[in-house]
Amino acid sequence: MPELRWQGSLSESGLVSARLHSEDLDVDARRALPQVGRLVATPAGEELCRQFSRRAVVEAARAELQAARRRLLDRRDAAGSVSFEAILEGMGARLRERENAGLRRAINATGIVLHTNLGRAPLAPAALAAVTEIGDGYSNLELDLTTGRRGSRHRAVADLLCELAGAEAALVVNNNAAAVLLTTCALAAGGEVVVSRGELVEIGGSFRIPDIIHQSGARLVEVGTTNKTRLADYARALTPETRMLLKVHPSNYRIVGFTGAVSTDALAALGREHGPAVVEDLGSGSLVDLRRFGLPHEPTVPEALGAGAGLVTFSGDKLLGGPQAGLIVGRRALIEQLERHPLLRALRPDKLTLAALQASLELYRDPERLQQALPVLAMLTQDEGVLQARAERLHALLAGIDGLDVEIAAEVGYAGGGSLPEAGIPTRALRLRPPRIGVDDLARRLQAHRPAVVARIAHDRLILDLRTVRDDEVAVIGQAVREGLA
Ligand SMILES: *Cc1c(COP(=O)(O)O)cnc(C)c1O
Repeated sequence: MPELRWQGSLSESGLVSARLHSEDLDVDARRALPQVGRLVATPAGEELCRQFSRRAVVEAARAELQAARRRLLDRRDAAGSVSFEAILEGMGARLRERENAGLRRAINATGIVLHTNLGRAPLAPAALAAVTEIGDGYSNLELDLTTGRRGSRHRAVADLLCELAGAEAALVVNNNAAAVLLTTCALAAGGEVVVSRGELVEIGGSFRIPDIIHQSGARLVEVGTTNKTRLADYARALTPETRMLLKVHPSNYRIVGFTGAVSTDALAALGREHGPAVVEDLGSGSLVDLRRFGLPHEPTVPEALGAGAGLVTFSGDKLLGGPQAGLIVGRRALIEQLERHPLLRALRPDKLTLAALQASLELYRDPERLQQALPVLAMLTQDEGVLQARAERLHALLAGIDGLDVEIAAEVGYAGGGSLPEAGIPTRALRLRPPRIGVDDLARRLQAHRPAVVARIAHDRLILDLRTVRDDEVAVIGQAVREGLA
């Protein structure tokens, strides 16, 4: 025991014997702790077994007893102070906490439409119906129903994507990170990938462009500076080893002021002249121009292809409004290189993703109905009058709570998901200051509610943003706040 030696060096005999003496007391106290079996057999233990599995309750009892032993040993609890009840209560808390960690429904009151921590895009009813239909039974996932021979799982969605994006060929993988990885592996392994220093981004969740390139076995060649990169910088970097010119959408940040980036047009022309593939990672990448819905412009996939990009990659669950997926569209010869790469087998999407994606993409065939049919677009373009009415309904539910300071406020929300990053969208929110407890405490209690209610905190107020809240969720939030303050 190092601590004994350390104390011993201060005062050899006295301290060591005092320490050993009190350890004897602890041993008695620890012996007096109940056994696992007795804890589980109490009425409260049996009740926990009914709510959770017996195995989980036994595990919780072991963990609680071990924690109690440690507290006795560390003198955080005095001998004899640990009660049966306290241990049973601790077991209950432990079991509930574990259950909360499971995937479950949440109400998004942050106002951030594409919130990665909250699962990004809610699916359209049509996509949910497709998931149910395909998941409920068998499907022609890899069977060609015309020939009876083996088919490609990518085929149907790829055809749709080609139609909507105006592309020659398309491929779907698990997410956009996988799309960039597969593209770099298939097109550039062993060679060089040229990227502007202004686009060597980290997207969050540790997705970093330099790391992906490194993983693929290609060498990263940085060109230009943080704020300005010119076509001549790319041209100077070209060598016989250059396989790919990669342009990356700086999703979650903006460089403003004295800046300059090279357009896809110019990069594509350079690629055509010298050989390397030009790939654009659009991140959120919309299939339609959002200006038609009154939103700021976000580069679209057809625009990037029209400008001459050989491949364009983007996410399925950002502005597109579908399930998590990585979409790759562009030249047939390049897509075929990706299809031949062994990594594709490891990155292929499952049938539920394909079902949801196909149904979501089909909505794009009818642009007039798209805005209402796709929840992401419906939320982003929600009328301020509707938000105000929703805010008033929630306000009416909360106004009667004793001591609660609550007001309706005009706030600014964001699309999230790295899309439209600098464009704040006017929204309506409730600003709350709870009586007796802190704003953080209330936020935690709302998160522990079922369904969880996730809010923002700003200037020591809890902000409930109504843009991402559905009409049928307003009453649930009202109830959660009431319970949180009870
Ligand atoms: C979001 C994003 C990614 C990662 O996409 P996922 O679908 O989350 O894997 C990659 N590149 C850019 C530019 C992004 O915005």
